[in-house]
Amino acid sequence: MANNIIAVKGTHDMIAEESSAYTYIQNVFRAVAGLYGYQPIETPIMEHTECFLRSTGEGSDVVRKEMYTFLDKGERSITLRPELTAGVARCIVEKKLLATGDVPLKLFYSGPVFRYERPQLGRYRQFIQAGVECVGQDSPWLDAETIALAMRTLSYLGFRGVKVKVNTLGDKASRDAYKEALKQYFKPHLEEMCDDCKNRYELNPLRILDCKVKEDQKLVEGAPRMKDFLTKEAEERFYKTLSILSQEGVDYEIDDTLVRGLDYYGHIVFEVHASSPTGADYGAIMGGGHYDGLLANFGGRVECDSGVGFAFGVERLYSLMRDNNLLEGVAETLDIYMMPLTEDYIEHAFVLAEQIRGLGYTVEVPYAKTKLGSMFKKANRKKAKVAIIFGEDEINNGVVQVKNLATEEQVEANIETLDETLSMILDEHEEEEEHHCCCHNHEGEEGEHHCCHHHDEEEGEGEHHCCHHHDEEEGEGEHHCCHHHEEEKDYHCHHHKDGKKDD
Ligand code: AMP
Repeated sequence: MANNIIAVKGTHDMIAEESSAYTYIQNVFRAVAGLYGYQPIETPIMEHTECFLRSTGEGSDVVRKEMYTFLDKGERSITLRPELTAGVARCIVEKKLLATGDVPLKLFYSGPVFRYERPQLGRYRQFIQAGVECVGQDSPWLDAETIALAMRTLSYLGFRGVKVKVNTLGDKASRDAYKEALKQYFKPHLEEMCDDCKNRYELNPLRILDCKVKEDQKLVEGAPRMKDFLTKEAEERFYKTLSILSQEGVDYEIDDTLVRGLDYYGHIVFEVHASSPTGADYGAIMGGGHYDGLLANFGGRVECDSGVGFAFGVERLYSLMRDNNLLEGVAETLDIYMMPLTEDYIEHAFVLAEQIRGLGYTVEVPYAKTKLGSMFKKANRKKAKVAIIFGEDEINNGVVQVKNLATEEQVEANIETLDETLSMILDEHEEEEEHHCCCHNHEGEEGEHHCCHHHDEEEGEGEHHCCHHHDEEEGEGEHHCCHHHEEEKDYHCHHHKDGKKDD
């Protein structure tokens, strides 16, 4: 018999609640990026291999060892992106996105990336990165603002007490002097060092500082530090950025061992680690930095070839949020479980469920002969809030029994006015849930919340929130995102409380 097919090593399935959590994290990130004026960008998952050789750097570990590269049927060398910055830079140059001179160009993204690494806790071969690139203007203010964006995202996701580690790689003159000093320091030890480090020594000795081999790490501890090789300008720039971070209330700590091994980084580089109550170490949840000369790799001639960017690892965010109980209320929920008392009423349940879904509630129907006790157990497992029960008597009288599964209270409701009964019961649920505000940004706050789509149903009267595009619409009755509300005169959706009209 053939072996079962299993998922590719280092990949993972995201099922139900986990998948909801990923969507949630990406939505909060999207909303926060929006607060800083970022526009979305989606670049292809595959690029010409050259794209990464030019920007990520031929000597980097990612390019040398970790890329999924193949020849397509037209004999082109194609690579599944190991990060998004290179593709975004390629796109900016190819599509001349800086031609208008409107700088900085602020773009955010999220999507899968691929690295052929050894899988372990928090390390996958396919994982999701969510990040930003802010290009075309060189300013410590933008560097600091970008870090603030990342930290605000973490705060809105519920992380507390997280610090960002920062270091500076200085300007080119600082780096050249430092690289030379590193070479002199490591030269006598070269024979004992790992093969990768021997390579790094030639290509970019800064990368030795990132080596994970224990013996090499010991050597690294005694290595010269960047801060002693900074030019006066580079040092001033670093302290200016730090003072802005302090001004913005961003909690940082200087870590002078932090280097980001890609060639284009200069000035401030940063990384965030967060702890799990289980003690699990998933590695950094975010990394980024200031860069210069990235677009020139693609033939871009721009007035200012500087930028700053970072990327979160969404799997790692998810694992930490799960461990820290920050995902409460994020999973999709079930409002109503239909309970036809015999098989004969399944058709009735089907029709009624479709009508109720039109009101905006989530509904499930058991389409097989099921005992009432089993239906209650199932509703309970699915965390349904309300059961709608009906048999012959109810159908003959045009009513249903509506049971609030939290309080066990049961009322008889006329089918004609079922929307009012449901709205009464389910609004009570919503009020109770309100303090579980998903994005952790509004704790103790009153009023309107527009940062994430989970607030959709917490809004004032008459607002329509069937899709998360309404989140940021404050104006009364203006809903343009989906065709659902077009020409609605009498829409009884529970999101439009009190039957208020759309426009
Ligand atoms: P990097 O640019 O390599 O620092 O990656 C940015 C972020 O992506 C890191 O801070 C991690 O959170 C995440 N990341 C990097 N590699 C992996 C991996 N193999 N599996 C999961 N997440 C990763």
